[in-house]
Amino acid sequence: MAQGFVDLADELQQIKQQNLYRSRRIISTPQGVEIIVDGKPLINFSSNDYLGLANHPQVIKSFKQATDQYGVGSGSAHLICGHSQSHQALEEELADFTGRDRALLFSTGYMANVGVISALMGRGDQIFQDRLNHASLLDGGLLSGARFKRYLHNNLDDLNNKINPINGRTLIVTDGVFSMDGDVALLAGLSALATKKHAWLMVDDAHGLGVMGTTGAGVLQQLNLTQQQVPILMGTLGKGFGTFGAFIAGSDVLIETLIQKARSYVFTTALPAAVAEATRTSLKLVIAENWRREKLQSLVKRFQLGAYQLGLPVMPSDSAIQPLLIGDSQRAVDISEALLSQGFLVSAIRPPTIPKGEARLRITFSANHQPKHVDQLLDALESTSL
Ligand SMILES: *Cc1c(COP(=O)(O)O)cnc(C)c1O
Repeated sequence: MAQGFVDLADELQQIKQQNLYRSRRIISTPQGVEIIVDGKPLINFSSNDYLGLANHPQVIKSFKQATDQYGVGSGSAHLICGHSQSHQALEEELADFTGRDRALLFSTGYMANVGVISALMGRGDQIFQDRLNHASLLDGGLLSGARFKRYLHNNLDDLNNKINPINGRTLIVTDGVFSMDGDVALLAGLSALATKKHAWLMVDDAHGLGVMGTTGAGVLQQLNLTQQQVPILMGTLGKGFGTFGAFIAGSDVLIETLIQKARSYVFTTALPAAVAEATRTSLKLVIAENWRREKLQSLVKRFQLGAYQLGLPVMPSDSAIQPLLIGDSQRAVDISEALLSQGFLVSAIRPPTIPKGEARLRITFSANHQPKHVDQLLDALESTSL
């Protein structure tokens, strides 16, 4: 029998030996381009606050006003007495924004993914997931008890070959923008394949919302994909929106099913109403102020051009996520540390977040970066001679 956690200590030691040990840094400023980390000022290239809304004065003001009205805690789950007017209004605005019949708020994206997949799928059903899908999608699939297969990244032929008709339900799940690679799923093809195979298609657009599409409604807006073509849309609020939480958008029947059956919805406390109010303001900014998306695009272009000139190992991405493929975990950590000593926060991403042998630097841009920040980063990357 395990005694005094000795075997846990051994396991930690092994994680260290594989250069996969993780530890946290302590931040003492708001999210932004310039942050103080463990007491040291750094230029931040690792946040998912793509539009720079996490510390926007109007978003903060709405949050504060709402705490005057509602206090802080929501007090219970949505189905008991935690569902406020603000939650309701935000859900209606998110449905409108995404062009779906309805939207349902979840406390986090992780919980939304686990909740929706395990509510819709079960034994006798089958789920197909892109090999690079976010961990929460994979966990939802495992929890559901359905048969579970992963297909090669963005490979429609492989998916087509793997889907056999069954009596039960079939679900295809993909990230919209892949979180560690930055490339976009082949959604038009996936949607056509889903129709042909009588399958449902679910898209997790955590990294497209706010950033892509004419009003920031994400990859589905960019590609003009309707609710019929993509019946299940998941979006997060803690990234492009700069706040916290997540939602599922789709038909009335889908949303009512989730309210009855999604355990990570039913059995958890509603997010604070003040977070919903802050998000309503950030949604208005996302829709109205296109300059953030345009600026982000121009920063990304500037980086790609510079990286190309330096011969850096860029990956095929046009999103705000611009990874540099390094391969070896220790090497990725070493480069990240070297950048840190020069004043740049760029995270090294290692297994199990990404496949073995594909360690990388995950560089992300925000609309609050300035061209000079991009140039400084490129200079630093050049001097680390990766
Ligand atoms: C961040 C992320 C999630 C989880 O969202 P949280 O709100 O942080 O729990 C889900 N899917 C993808 C693709 C993500 O990047």
